[in-house]
Amino acid sequence: MDVIIGIDLGTTNSEVGVIRSGVPIVLTDDGDPILPSVVGLDPQGKLLVGRAARNQYVLSPERTIRSIKRKMGQDLTVDLGDQKYRPQEISAIILRALKERAERVLGHEVRKAVITVPAFFNEGQREATREAGELAGLEVVRIINEPTAAILTYDPNPPEMERLLVYDLGGGTFDVSIAMVESGVIEILSSHGDTNLGGDDFDQRLLDFVCDRFQTEHGIDLRESSRARSRLLAAVEDAKKRLSSEPVATISEEFIAEMNGSPLHLTQDVMREDYEGLIEPLLAKTLRCVDDALSDANLRALQIDKVVLVGGATRTPLIHRMLEDRLGRPVHSEIEPDLAVAMGAAVQGALIAGVDVGPVLVDITPHTLGIEVMSYPGGFPNPYQFSPIIERNTPLPVTKTDIYTTAHDAQKVAEIRVFQGEEDDTRLNTLVGEFLIEGLAPVPAPNSLLVRLDLDLNGILKVTATERVTGLAKHVVIDNMMERFRNRERVNAIDRINALFDDVDHAPAYDASPAPRAIEADDDSQSDDDGTENELLDAIEAARSLIAKSEELVAAAAGEDAAEMKGLVQDLQAAITRSSVDDIRRVSAALDDLVYYLSDV
Ligand code: AMP
Repeated sequence: MDVIIGIDLGTTNSEVGVIRSGVPIVLTDDGDPILPSVVGLDPQGKLLVGRAARNQYVLSPERTIRSIKRKMGQDLTVDLGDQKYRPQEISAIILRALKERAERVLGHEVRKAVITVPAFFNEGQREATREAGELAGLEVVRIINEPTAAILTYDPNPPEMERLLVYDLGGGTFDVSIAMVESGVIEILSSHGDTNLGGDDFDQRLLDFVCDRFQTEHGIDLRESSRARSRLLAAVEDAKKRLSSEPVATISEEFIAEMNGSPLHLTQDVMREDYEGLIEPLLAKTLRCVDDALSDANLRALQIDKVVLVGGATRTPLIHRMLEDRLGRPVHSEIEPDLAVAMGAAVQGALIAGVDVGPVLVDITPHTLGIEVMSYPGGFPNPYQFSPIIERNTPLPVTKTDIYTTAHDAQKVAEIRVFQGEEDDTRLNTLVGEFLIEGLAPVPAPNSLLVRLDLDLNGILKVTATERVTGLAKHVVIDNMMERFRNRERVNAIDRINALFDDVDHAPAYDASPAPRAIEADDDSQSDDDGTENELLDAIEAARSLIAKSEELVAAAAGEDAAEMKGLVQDLQAAITRSSVDDIRRVSAALDDLVYYLSDV
């Protein structure tokens, strides 16, 4: 059976997961589960992907591309060396690096993947993601929404029906989804979000704050030098992360500028309150999305049972406070916020491959889809009337048909313009595709046309228009917004990506002959690869039965013991997620002692 990997293709970081012994794990490279979503060329023109590319960004921003996800689905190119690339080609390079990582770890070729996208990605952005997968040599068997993937890592059989609110804030995008989980079925009730809001924006605000202070002091705008800017961007991101656990962070960059021939250094303290003041307006926007998601799901805040945080930026303490204030309950960050999406994608991959890993998923479309029609308010013609066909929050897959009529006698052609959005006026919505149906019968108006929208499980749309009297039909799959490569360009794109990878001195993607290599954990054991893999699987199995035992005991345990037990269970789950044999064993030993002691009292 083909393994289907799960990929979280993030703005800042990406990860790849797979199911092993029924458990989702994230595959690591040298113990590191995260691949920074950064692509670059070194001074010799060789390809760099991940940490190496991110490290050179500070010195060579002109040879480095980051946050490409923010450009997915747009008709533009970015420069890398002397070549121009479309966003999906750069994403393909990241996906190819993840595919190769998976092949190295699993020891065999990987051909299929589930890739996650923000719930609020539109049709063009989804198609661009699918194409990136294809350019990377992957068959994209499903595209799923990131918050939905995170929910797939949860127990699909809670003792009672649970309503979850997933707040997912990554480097570049924000999503909130509300789901109902009961008897093995996860049903998404609503989704809202902003595909241009994330931790990168926090960095930008902090950068402006620091640069403004420097400018006031020295009269120099550091943002004007791309080198200084990229150095500072790395420094403020680091400071931002420290501010999640410390009240003040010092930013110190030597020789950042020059004045009258003398070097200038930058040393600034940033207080957490100042930083929080900068990002508060952005977080207020996310809370408005939370309100909208609640209202679409017809729920009040107090009806939510669990608030789940996903995405690296949710480590920001202000987010916890604002959400707790708004929702009136503690937030839940039990799952690893950085890894949950890749693990959920792996669960979805296993479900598609026919592995019984539990949940059944019912996802929705977060946007309304429909076409542009003519209306006559007050007798005046309005050519921009939006006529919804599939309402937002409808479960997928869905097929809906509506009847429309021609406006003129013997009208030969009708233009079908498909929009997504919530406004009555199409000019305020997003055009996702358009086509003509030509050769209509020369009959008097009104001549009926059936317009059918098929939205599949990937959120990808097919539109069909059929003339009722003749059966004349025309359809499009919505992909023209993203300027799909014509075949020839596509082959060229694949060749260019292959050439970049061929030039890199890296380990072969996988070795077809020997036994499968180990799942790379941060283990340093000398045992052979097979042994290491089996050790990991054994350790995970033992740990899971220990967790089950602890859960039986925890209810009866006294306050302090119960708290200690919950803490150890969380640590153990995190160690399983990281596939770290050493950590699993260490935490299991401590938990085992406690279980032994509590079983005895
Ligand atoms: P993700 O796309 O989920 O990998 O999230 C990446 C974003 O999370 C980036 O903007 C990071 O700077 C941010 N991030 C990671 N760790 C922290 C932290 N400890 N505090 C605040 N933001 C963080």
